[in-house]
Amino acid sequence: MAQTKRAFDKKVFLIKFILILTLGIALGVSCLFSSQIEAFLHIGKKSSSFSAKEVLKEEDLQIHYLDVGQADCTFIMLPEGTSIMIDAGLSQSADHVIDYVKALGVSQIDHFILTHSDNDHVGGAKKIFDAFEIVNIYRPFQIARTKEGGDYADEKLTEYVEFFGGALSTVKTEVYRKFITAAYSETYTVNGVKKQSNVFVSYDSLTIEPKVEEEVFNFEFFAPLKREAAGEIDFNSTRTYGYPTKNYDNSNNASPVMLLEYKEKSFVFTGDAEEEVESDFLASLTASERERFKNVDVLQAGHHGSSTSNTDAFLELLVPDYFVVSCGEKSKYGHPSDSVVDKVNSLPHTISDYLITTHNSGDIIFGFDASGKLVYAAISGGMGSSVRYWQIALCAFAIFSIVVISVKITPNKKATAKRAVKETERVVKSFKRK
Ligand SMILES: [Zn+2]
Repeated sequence: MAQTKRAFDKKVFLIKFILILTLGIALGVSCLFSSQIEAFLHIGKKSSSFSAKEVLKEEDLQIHYLDVGQADCTFIMLPEGTSIMIDAGLSQSADHVIDYVKALGVSQIDHFILTHSDNDHVGGAKKIFDAFEIVNIYRPFQIARTKEGGDYADEKLTEYVEFFGGALSTVKTEVYRKFITAAYSETYTVNGVKKQSNVFVSYDSLTIEPKVEEEVFNFEFFAPLKREAAGEIDFNSTRTYGYPTKNYDNSNNASPVMLLEYKEKSFVFTGDAEEEVESDFLASLTASERERFKNVDVLQAGHHGSSTSNTDAFLELLVPDYFVVSCGEKSKYGHPSDSVVDKVNSLPHTISDYLITTHNSGDIIFGFDASGKLVYAAISGGMGSSVRYWQIALCAFAIFSIVVISVKITPNKKATAKRAVKETERVVKSFKRK
């Protein structure tokens, strides 16, 4: 009897060993295809066509799509020295943004563009404003109210509310009000000299000029449409330059459409602009402007890849080579939306890894390699997590091994796995009797 039990234990051990070994080999082999599996599952760190270190050494354009979770923050460095930041992410990601940009050797941001007043775009603005010398600020024409929604805190633009009979976008986002207040009242110091940031309202046809006179790049705003009725905003009385802009019900639609052109490459940013803005933008384009938007190189997905933006007409004009999505955990807002991913997949592509998300890839840098080709590098370690296939495979192997090892051979018939082993035991015994 004792002999039979030993023989049986040996057999069970062998079965368990073979099961674990088979899964181990299968998972090990599947890891050889991890990049394809990661692409299929929309996980993992995207492969980069050059290392981040090389990008940072490159004295050429760099566009950093920073991983700030479910938010937006993009930092652009142009080779002639101009620096542009578009949006500020959340307050909790501001330290990552500040450390990252300071590590690039930057202490002054020439142009700080806030697309609209929502927390995921202005949450980190005050901290960033305090950490750098900000020369020019581009704000949405959204007038800041106090937290209680009472009096307008945005004194500089309040007169326009009266001019337009109150038909203007006023918001009471606290982080926005604090930033606007600081932008007008606080100073920064350069070589012992106190300065104040210039403030612009973002509007259709506003441009950012290069620091040097050569036309090394073009940066132009194509939305929101300006309201000519009140004329230009008076720079002297309001210390703000620009125009009151078209008022939309949705705060997201205060976001401008921005085009950066450099070395025949084009990059488009739209903040959280939705369908209405995309439609107004397309309708406002002249024939020559339309040409400039045809087949852009990199489009930052509108509204984190939401289906309320990235309309067919918009994508069919732009047909981006790369579609970069700034988003956090997919579960909360479902960004990027499956329908947008399907649309992007259906566009003609010359590049295989055209869809890149900060959630999967971390901080993403676009730049030029030594041969002048536009390439990107992805650096994990930002705000988002970057689950790799090998991690999933290892976990699956560990869980499976524990389950297989812990299954006990007893007469208990409740568990299916146990029943299966029991059956094996019966077959083994009957075989032995023969
Ligand atoms: Zn947003």
